[in-house]
Amino acid sequence: MATPTQFPALLVREAPAGETERAVAAVETLCVGDLPPGDVLIDVACSSLNYKDALACQGHPGVAAKLPHVPGIDCAGVVRQCDSGHFSAGDAVLVTGYGLGSDAWGGYSGCVRVPAGWLLPLPAGLDARSAMTYGTAGFTAAQSVAALLAGGVEPGQGPVLVTGASGGVGVFSVAILAKLGFEVVAMSGKPDMAPPLATLGASRVIGRDALPGGEGPLLKATWAGGVDTVGGETLARLLRSTRYRGCVAACGLAASADLPLTVYPFILRGVTLAGIDSAKCPAGPRREVWEKLAGPWSVELPPGLVTTIDLDGVADRAAEMLAGKTRGRTLVMPRSSRPDEAG
Ligand code: NDP
Repeated sequence: MATPTQFPALLVREAPAGETERAVAAVETLCVGDLPPGDVLIDVACSSLNYKDALACQGHPGVAAKLPHVPGIDCAGVVRQCDSGHFSAGDAVLVTGYGLGSDAWGGYSGCVRVPAGWLLPLPAGLDARSAMTYGTAGFTAAQSVAALLAGGVEPGQGPVLVTGASGGVGVFSVAILAKLGFEVVAMSGKPDMAPPLATLGASRVIGRDALPGGEGPLLKATWAGGVDTVGGETLARLLRSTRYRGCVAACGLAASADLPLTVYPFILRGVTLAGIDSAKCPAGPRREVWEKLAGPWSVELPPGLVTTIDLDGVADRAAEMLAGKTRGRTLVMPRSSRPDEAG
């Protein structure tokens, strides 16, 4: 197998003086020696676009604190070299989270170098493409579903709401919950997403303004549970309208990081608010969740919900995502970006 020393990568650099943006992203050619330290060198086959990546592409200091930066919080590929003895050349692996694409340079690159502890062997049944179709979004959705089950929510107890349903976390949450037999209500700001969300198993699709508000700390008890990707008033209303002993998994902030709420849903209805973090999820549960995605919880997205781009397409796609215009998942193929790999 050829082991090129040069490869394409998407570099986010400080914008020239006078520009309004903090940063600009462009495809450049890197060498293995340019990569940060780490014990495993991976040839990246596939990465994906997540909300955090979209922020990193614009140089958001919360994700890309230090410039220049290579975004890409997840990737799958093949080990080229491992100095720690934990992996062998040729092993198929995946990485999501830890510091990939935030503290460390990420997956929008022909090669990445990371600590061995960040890697998981690719679970049987998944290839690089299917693993990254799930990516951080699918992993987060599966963690959220696991949190609902652990919180005592079961099929048959009533409807479960998924917000931001057209997004990466949303589509997988809808599909997995439906596969497990839940009655899933999908909330989406995109009316044209109703048919694909129904195909994924949503029994009903409602608009973003369909959650009733009202005076008082509690609303009509409606939901057995929920997966919330948007935060803010939506999460507050969901919690205020969750049934006795229900559970809501909160994983996102697409609308807002605020939570305008009292403690009454917790102390009067025994509602559980389960926080979901994908980046630092420990290795044991991380492996269990991936085994579920590769096995009993495996779901497929219809072709219209998976878009494949190369590195040149990332900046525009990231801007679309931040504007809330994307649907489903976007795969990023770093190695198809430029024919300039040299041995
Ligand atoms: P996407 O951009 O794919 O999806 C977000 C969805 O939220 C959009 O498709 C849209 O869905 C909805 N949305 C966007 N803007 C607004 C708004 N202003 N008000 C209400 N809804 C809005 O992102 P992901 O699915 O990848 O991520 C979703 C959220 O989860 C993000 O905040 C992300 O940072 C977070 N996240 C957290 C993780 C963790 O470890 N906790 C891991 C992965 C993601 P629609 O049009 O259908 O309403």
